[in-house]
Amino acid sequence: MKVAIVGGGLAGIAAAYTLLGDPDVTEVHLLEADGGYGGRASTDTTSIPGFAFDMGAQYIQDPTLNPLTQIAKDLGFETIEEEDEYMLRVERDGEWEDVATTDEEVAAVVKSIKTSYNLAKKKPNVVVAAKPRFDTQVEMFGHATSPYGPFTESAETWQYLAADRAREGPGDGSANLFVKRGIGTLVSAYGQLLPGLHRDRYKARFGTRVTSITHSDSGVTVAYANGSVAVDACIVTVPVSVLGSGAITFEPALPAAYKNALKALRLGSYKKLALQLRVAPADIEPGTNYYLIEAEPEGVWQYYRLPHNPLVLVAHAAGDFAAALDRMEDRDVYALFKANLKEAYDNSIYYSNGKAITNWSDDPSAGGAYSYTAFIGGGPDDPDALKARSDLGVPLGKLHFAGEATNLKCYGTLQAAYFEGVRAARAILA
Ligand SMILES: Cc1cc2nc3c(=O)[nH]c(=O)nc-3n(C[C@H](O)[C@H](O)[C@H](O)COP(=O)(O)OP(=O)(O)OC[C@H]3O[C@@H](n4cnc5c(N)ncnc54)[C@H](O)[C@@H]3O)c2cc1C
Repeated sequence: MKVAIVGGGLAGIAAAYTLLGDPDVTEVHLLEADGGYGGRASTDTTSIPGFAFDMGAQYIQDPTLNPLTQIAKDLGFETIEEEDEYMLRVERDGEWEDVATTDEEVAAVVKSIKTSYNLAKKKPNVVVAAKPRFDTQVEMFGHATSPYGPFTESAETWQYLAADRAREGPGDGSANLFVKRGIGTLVSAYGQLLPGLHRDRYKARFGTRVTSITHSDSGVTVAYANGSVAVDACIVTVPVSVLGSGAITFEPALPAAYKNALKALRLGSYKKLALQLRVAPADIEPGTNYYLIEAEPEGVWQYYRLPHNPLVLVAHAAGDFAAALDRMEDRDVYALFKANLKEAYDNSIYYSNGKAITNWSDDPSAGGAYSYTAFIGGGPDDPDALKARSDLGVPLGKLHFAGEATNLKCYGTLQAAYFEGVRAARAILA
């Protein structure tokens, strides 16, 4: 049996390992648009010397349940537990101070979002929480630091379905793990082992953007700019934003259930930047996550120094704020963040030359960060949105869709991508 895999992120890599574990599979062709493995797990190791900047995924979440924990051990990648200290940088009466996220007023906002979520999660198509008034620091901090806020889901709480979130499985309660050399470096290294293990049956083709897929009961033909491959079955792992944009055409066209699923499944925005520091700033403790309000575009920055790399300041933005930053020039985004920090720390942050920034919204291979099921206005009785993840995961004859977005329990993560790659490969083998 010959199988094609479209996409060399963790879903594609996990599918390849699973397929090649079966001797009946004679050929596996992995077709990847970019120059290497990893997809949304990508580490920039050159912009800031000595610093592995995880541009996409950065944590091994739920490490006791996550296959990457063992993969990291097997491949000799050191991991470090994330510390969970959270502080808000707030200006009160003209003075800047750090306030714990448990601050009474902020905690009250978080509680109200939780109450709204608890009411909405049993209904099929209701948003997590209504749009808050963004006119007070307290509401903005409460929204950003809530476990239902944009930093967790990559979309705003009023944009995604509570019932989608409600079926997420419980985590393992363990601290997230950083991969010291970068989680993208780890995923890429895992993919790079494939040709050596299965030289005669495995072929990876990079810089190969798939443009059309023709499928029938007898097989699948996957076409790209300068060629095509004909196989018995195919697993498509490209992000749902890429599929929804029509960048790959299907012949015959996808049935309504898949098209509806791709209307509801979106990738939210998540932006990161890293700045090399000349001097360690005393007011930004390594290991603590700080939050700071931005006025225009309106949003909340999260920023931190890593204990194992204290001379780099990393900043994150999420949801609509990140989308707005993605529409700006990189230099303006750096300038905006630096200007805000200058004020909040009384001009006491000194930068060096190294810097790095992401823009997942504009990446033709991603089109955003990670998936959420959008409130598409169908109202509480619209069943399509809620079924979107499972509908997309149903095999369409010889064609299979897999990736973080088809997982119900831990979508939006690397472990979801891994589990879904394995699921689709096993469906083909069965
Ligand atoms: C900023 C950010 C932070 C994140 N943080 C975390 C985190 O801390 N922990 C966590 O577990 N997860 C995190 N995630 C989510 C995680 O990165 C993804 O869930 C996971 O990488 C998805 O893997 P995948 O294989 O499903 O898709 P992808 O990794 O997107 O792989 C799909 C592949 O398809 C390729 N492709 C696209 N179009 C085509 C085409 N036409 N032809 C051929 N190939 C194509 C792409 O180049 C890509 O390599 C984060 C993501 C982002 C963006």
